[in-house]
Amino acid sequence: MTIIYWFRRDRRLSDNPALLHAITLANELGNALLPVTLNEDNPQTAWGFPRIGPHRLAFEAQSLAGLQTSLKALGSNLYQPIKPGVAGLIELATQTQASTVVCEAIYAPQELDEITQLQNAGIDVIAIEQSTMLPREDLPFDIHKTPVVFSEFRRAVEKAKCLPRRPLATPTSLLPLPANILAASPYFGSTDDLTSDLPALDTRSTFPYQANGWHGDETTAQAHLTHYFSSKLPQQYKETRNGLIGKDYSTKFSPWLAVGSLSAPQIWEALQTHEATHGSNDSTYWIWFELLWRDHFRLMMQRFGRMFFVRSGLAKEPMPIRAHNAQGFSRWRTGNTGNAFIDAAMRELAVTGYLSNRMRQNVASYLIHDLGGDWLAGAAWFEHCLIDFDVHSNQGNWAYIAGVGTDPRGGRRFNPEKQAHDYDRDATYRQLWNTP
Ligand SMILES: Cc1cc2nc3c(=O)[nH]c(=O)nc-3n(C[C@H](O)[C@H](O)[C@H](O)COP(=O)(O)OP(=O)(O)OC[C@H]3O[C@@H](n4cnc5c(N)ncnc54)[C@H](O)[C@@H]3O)c2cc1C
Repeated sequence: MTIIYWFRRDRRLSDNPALLHAITLANELGNALLPVTLNEDNPQTAWGFPRIGPHRLAFEAQSLAGLQTSLKALGSNLYQPIKPGVAGLIELATQTQASTVVCEAIYAPQELDEITQLQNAGIDVIAIEQSTMLPREDLPFDIHKTPVVFSEFRRAVEKAKCLPRRPLATPTSLLPLPANILAASPYFGSTDDLTSDLPALDTRSTFPYQANGWHGDETTAQAHLTHYFSSKLPQQYKETRNGLIGKDYSTKFSPWLAVGSLSAPQIWEALQTHEATHGSNDSTYWIWFELLWRDHFRLMMQRFGRMFFVRSGLAKEPMPIRAHNAQGFSRWRTGNTGNAFIDAAMRELAVTGYLSNRMRQNVASYLIHDLGGDWLAGAAWFEHCLIDFDVHSNQGNWAYIAGVGTDPRGGRRFNPEKQAHDYDRDATYRQLWNTP
C-alpha cells in the first residue's frame, strides 16, 4: 500500500511537519511514499484573462523543479497527474492503490473543497496545518473568535507571549516509490522544459526571478534568507519598507512563502539569530509585525471563508450593486489610466509579476475609489500576475482597501497625488516604468 504526499503551497523538504508525518506513517506501515503535485486548472476568469498568468506559472514551475531535484537526491521523485485538478489525484490514488493522502491544510474555500472531493472519492485525507508563523494551538483565543481588528489580534498574541515553533529538520531519506508507479512517468522530464519559455527578464525588476539568486526553489529561498539576515538590511527595514525601486527595500520573502519553499517559522528563527548578533530595534520588530499580518489574514479566512470572495465581503449590509467599469478596468490593468504614478505600477506588475506593498495599496485604492471598479476584478488581476499570489493575503488586503474587510476605519482611499509626492518626489519611479 502507498501513502501519497500531496505538495500544495509547501514545496520544501525542510521544516515541513506534514511531510514528516507522511514519512512516519509510511515507515510505520512499511509502505511506499509517493510525492505528488497537482496539474493546476487554469480557467478563464469572469474578467476575460486566465486565472494564472505567465510569471506565476514560471515561478511556480521553478519551485516544483527545485522540489523534484531535492526528492530525486533522496531516491524519490515528484509526480504530477496529467488530468488537471483533484480528479487527477483521485485517478493516481486508484492506480497506485493508495488509501491515504497526507498534505498541508489550507483553510480557503476552494482548497477545502479539494479535500472534500478526495474524501468523497473514499480517500483518507490527513491535512495538517503548518503555514502560519504561530501555532494555532497556542493562540489565546478560539480560531473562530480571532479578533477581526489586526491591532487587537497582535496585542492578544503578544500579551500571551505566543511564539513560533522551532523549524523541523529536513528528512535524510525517503521511502521508495510504489512499484506500480514505474508504469507512469514523472511529469517533469527535465528542468530545461520548465525554463524554456520563461518570460524575459526585465532588469528593472525588484524580484528578478529569472536571475540566479531569485529562483523559486528551496535552495535559493534558504540562501536568500541567510543572505538577508546576515546583512544590515533588517536593521533599516522599517525605514526602507515603503520603497519602490531596487531589490533591498523590503525582505522579498513573499514569493518563496507563497509557493512554500520557505516557511514563516524559518524566517522567525533567522530573525532571532540576527537580533542576537546585530541587536534588535524597531525595524527588526517590524518584520515580525508584518508576518503577523500574514497570520491574521490566514485566520480571518478560516473564520469567514467564502465571505472574502463576494463583493460585500464581511460587511453586515449588502453592498450597493454597481456596474463593473469594464473600460476603466481595462485601462487600469494595462497601465493606461493617464495617472503616471498608477500606470508605472501597473506596468511593473505586468512586466515582472511583482509589486511593492506601497504600490499595491495605491493601485488597489485607485481602481476601487477613483475608477469605481470592482475589487473582485482587481483581486483576480493580482492573482493572475503576482508571483507571490497568496489567496489569504490577496483577498484580505483587497477587501480591506475596499472597506469590506477587516479595516476598522471601513476602507481607505490613498490620494495618488499625495502618495506620488511622498514616495516618488523626484518622479524616478514614474520615469523608470513609463519609458518604454
Ligand atoms: C492589494 C494587495 C494585495 C496583496 N496580495 C498579496 C499576495 O497575494 N500575497 C502576499 O504574500 N502578499 C500580498 N500583499 C501583501 C504585501 O504587499 C506583500 O506581502 C509584500 O509586498 C511582499 O513583499 P516582501 O516579502 O518584501 O514584504 P515585507 O515588507 O518584507 O514583509 C515581510 C513579510 O510580511 C508579510 N506581509 C507584509 N505585508 C503584508 C500584508 N499587508 N498582508 C499580509 N502579509 C504581509 C509577507 O509575508 C512578507 O513577505 C498584498 C497587499 C495588497 C495591498
